[in-house]
Amino acid sequence: MWPRTHRVETSTELIGDLREVAEAAGVTIYTETAATSLLTDENGKVIGATAEQANGTKITINTANGVVLACGGYCANPAMVKEYDQYWGDDLSDHTLTTNVGTNEGDGILMAQAIGADTVGMEVAQMMPSSSPLKGTMTDGAWGDASEQIWIDGDGNRFVDEYAERDVLAKASLQLEDGIFYIIYAGKVGEDGLLKGATLEDQMFGTSIQDMVDNGHVWYGSTLAEVAEASATSAGGAAPAFTEEALRETIEKYNSYVEAQEDPDFHKEVLAGAIDIEAIEADPNVGFVISPRKASLHHTMGGLKIDTEAHVLNTDGEIIEGLWAAGEVTGGVHAGNRLGGNAVADIFTYGHIAGGNAAAGK
Ligand SMILES: Cc1cc2nc3c(=O)[nH]c(=O)nc-3n(C[C@H](O)[C@H](O)[C@H](O)COP(=O)(O)OP(=O)(O)OC[C@H]3O[C@@H](n4cnc5c(N)ncnc54)[C@H](O)[C@@H]3O)c2cc1C
Repeated sequence: MWPRTHRVETSTELIGDLREVAEAAGVTIYTETAATSLLTDENGKVIGATAEQANGTKITINTANGVVLACGGYCANPAMVKEYDQYWGDDLSDHTLTTNVGTNEGDGILMAQAIGADTVGMEVAQMMPSSSPLKGTMTDGAWGDASEQIWIDGDGNRFVDEYAERDVLAKASLQLEDGIFYIIYAGKVGEDGLLKGATLEDQMFGTSIQDMVDNGHVWYGSTLAEVAEASATSAGGAAPAFTEEALRETIEKYNSYVEAQEDPDFHKEVLAGAIDIEAIEADPNVGFVISPRKASLHHTMGGLKIDTEAHVLNTDGEIIEGLWAAGEVTGGVHAGNRLGGNAVADIFTYGHIAGGNAAAGK
């Protein structure tokens, strides 16, 4: 309903700019250094932290005003997600993969809990449906906007409204065999309005489709018969052996729904991306891509309980002096199902508040 994503050329630009400003202000940044505990004085005020560097060196950081925790969520600690989960049940295991960096293991939550911090919303974690079955990352696959996507099961049939919320999509896909589903991709709508087939040089997240084929992540074919034949070999940990007929039937049915702007099967609200099979098959330079996908852990909505000034609260609802938190380490900001794009708004809003208050010691 509302504009929400703040998009820049690349996310690393944000990091680079923040780093430049911080260093100009005299901040020392320690990389490859993991905080291990928070230090408190006799009144319970946070006065620093202990940390361990990658080479094993243990260090203590003493602070004048306190500590801001900004060390992300706990998607890379599936056992911790499962411990609190009240939503996914058996769809989640201690080994569920994640889209996150491996260091997001909930350290900030655990360190703060050790000095009495409260948490909120830990019972819900978000799963990203379109993840690599092998790596858990959002890479190694090809797809367009949700309105254009066609998702199929191992028999080549659609099974869900591809435009639905992430939890609905993840739940539906995890009911399929091995929790794996497949996205049919045939390229992007060109400037002339015609849908172009995918070329092997097309890039997704910096990887070409040719590389994805070579590394066994997706199937490619310049005709439906070719991509169907390719699907009998393993990619992304699956080998469903689609038939050309099943793929054709599904695409043609989907095309008719786009034409009619009505999806009687799954009631997809925004219908686009009709695939011109004939035009793609007639051009040897373009084709169809099928990407196996499996839901993986993406965002933890739960975390440390904070107030609107980013103070961390204890289990009695009182402010823990000298401790602020911002970003995915906190809970309650996104309720039960974060909207894509809102985490960037969260981290820049609360990061600013937490940093300002910590600098001012209030
Ligand atoms: C693939 C992907 C795509 C996404 N796309 C979007 C998007 O388009 N829009 C959007 O709004 N959100 C998106 N999100 C979500 C968003 O990126 C995160 O919610 C956000 O980055 C969280 O920011 P953060 O600063 O709280 O934590 P993070 O960015 O997770 O950073 C936490 C940092 O703390 C470090 N750390 C962890 N433990 C310790 C420790 N003990 N000591 C020291 N450091 C530690 C970690 O290594 C990490 O570098 C995406 C997430 C992923 C994974």
